[in-house]
Parts: sequence; structure tokens; C-alpha cells
Amino acid sequence: MQAWLKAAADRLDVSAIRLAEQSLARRYPALALDFLVWEHLPRPVDYPEVSAVPRLGISWCSRCLAEGFANDEPAYVRQQWVLAASGFCHRHRWPLEDRCNACGSLNWRFATPARGPLRMICGACWRPLERASVSTLDAEKAARACWDHAITFELQLMGAMAGKTPDQFRFNFTSASQLLDQVRDICSLLNRSPPGHDHWGGRTRAIALNDFACDAITPGMRDYRFLSYDEPNPLATATPLLRRCLLAAAHAIIDSDPGTTTALFGPDAPPAIDTFVAGMNRELLDSYPAATGHWSPTFTRQIEAAKQRRRRRSTLAKFKLRRFAGNTAFAEV
Ligand SMILES: [Zn+2]
Ligand SMILES: [Zn+2]
Repeated sequence: MQAWLKAAADRLDVSAIRLAEQSLARRYPALALDFLVWEHLPRPVDYPEVSAVPRLGISWCSRCLAEGFANDEPAYVRQQWVLAASGFCHRHRWPLEDRCNACGSLNWRFATPARGPLRMICGACWRPLERASVSTLDAEKAARACWDHAITFELQLMGAMAGKTPDQFRFNFTSASQLLDQVRDICSLLNRSPPGHDHWGGRTRAIALNDFACDAITPGMRDYRFLSYDEPNPLATATPLLRRCLLAAAHAIIDSDPGTTTALFGPDAPPAIDTFVAGMNRELLDSYPAATGHWSPTFTRQIEAAKQRRRRRSTLAKFKLRRFAGNTAFAEV
């Protein structure tokens, strides 16, 4: 038995075996570390004495907290709240949050009030975190169908993390690990600054993710534009808001059903895989996938077909431009 597990079991006064049974590793045997959310990425550093201790980044569902409080139960962190494959509470089908809805602070803590159960409260204004966001409540009616669509994909990812083969009607010939690899790579590509980008400070809003705006996924923040983040898996440190946007885009890109693009990005949106390939730097896109078998054969084929459509469109555009230039020259004679 690992020493930390035993120490935690002693501190919490539960049996170590019972604690191990509740662990994420047990429930999600295929869980990769970058599919957990971290406050800081755990990585080897040159100066360990000044590096931050890796801690899980916790978001929460205000409805779970409100329900617990109403039932006089102590507040606790659900496993799903630290998984990078979810931006929603699947029990309440409600967006997860990571800041106080009253003052916007990211600081929170557990607190034992004079009366009533243990609560999660804001560390800045001391209000309890079970207050729902007003903009989310306002958006709920119109956004619900879109949220439900996004949640179906999150459930597939959570299944893949538990080693379950994805739905083969949706994700043809795709294994659990291929689905996770595809999501990781797509999220990285969506968030990556284009090569040659030399903006001072290194971050830019000229990233492919910003071609996938969906107001239902970002309630109260119309046309929100994200900054680049050059990491192998941006989901690992993303806020729930960024997570939802990345996962919604990845969902529509991987799932070839046109209904998915329509449900998430509207009836006029072109196929998400075409938007993805069109907005992506060629050099960057061609460098993926790193190895054969990393992506499923179906997805590799779909990406190749989208690249071909892009080439055809660009040849056609050049031809039209030349013909236009020719007509103008003729008119001037
Ligand atoms: Zn909930
Ligand atoms: Zn607050």
C-alpha cells in the first residue's frame, strides 16, 4: 500500500482499502494524467525548490452543492469535477464553474458554519458557492439542447477513460485510446499559435478555436475569444469554460454527423472538420498524427478528405482570381 494513501486514510479515519476503491485510478483505469485538470502542470523542473506543487484544479456544480446543502449533507468534491473530459455536471446537466458568481474570485475554501453542514465558500466575499450564475440561468432554456449534445460526447470520453470502446455508430473503428488521442491532438491544434507567430509575449487570439463560437457553451459571454496556449493538451489546465469550448469543437470535428455541427454551431455552419482544416496552418496540421494507429483509420481518412476539399477550393479561388484579372485587363484595352 502506498504511504500517501495510508497517511490519507489515517487522517480521514477510513480504511485504506475503502479509500483506494474510491480513487480515480480505480474508476478510470485508462486515465492519462493530462486528462485530469491541474492548477499547475506536474513536470520535471530544473529548480524543484521554486516549483509549484502540482495540485488538481477543482471546478464545481452549483446545483450539486445546493442540493447537498438542502439535504443537510457536508459539501464534497465530486470525481467528475477534476476530469479534463468534462465541462458539465452530468447529473444536473449544468455547466461547471470555477469562480464565485457574486464577486468573480477564483479563491474558495471549505468552511464549517456555526450551524448547518460543511460548505464550499468564496475566499474573497465569503458567500457560498451554491449560488447559480445569473447568465447561465438566463441562457438555460435556449442552451439546454446544445448542452445535452455536448454532454453525450463527454460521456463517450469518460467511457474511453474507463477503457470502454466508443459507440461504433458514431466513432467508426475507433478504439478508446484513439478517441482520447484524437481529442488531445485536436485540442492542442485548436489552441496552438500559428508557426512564425512572433507577437511579443507569445500569445495570440489568432487560433483555430476562435472559429468555433457557440454562445450556448459560453453563457453571458458573446463572441468570446481565447488566447493561444502551446501545450500538448490544453485541457489539462483549462478553465471549465475553455474545456467546454475545446470539447464542443473536438466533438463536431470528430463526429462526421452533420447534425452535431448544426446542434453546436448553428444551421449555417459548414462541416466542423472543414472549418478546422481551413483555419489550420498546413505545416502544423501535416505534422499530425505523430504515428500510424495514433488516430483511427476513419478519422485519418476524414482529415485527408477535408484537406483535399481545401486544396480544391484554393485552386478554384486562384482560377477565379486569374479570370477576374484577365477580364479587367481586357476591359482596359
Ligand atoms: Zn450537479
Ligand atoms: Zn465571492
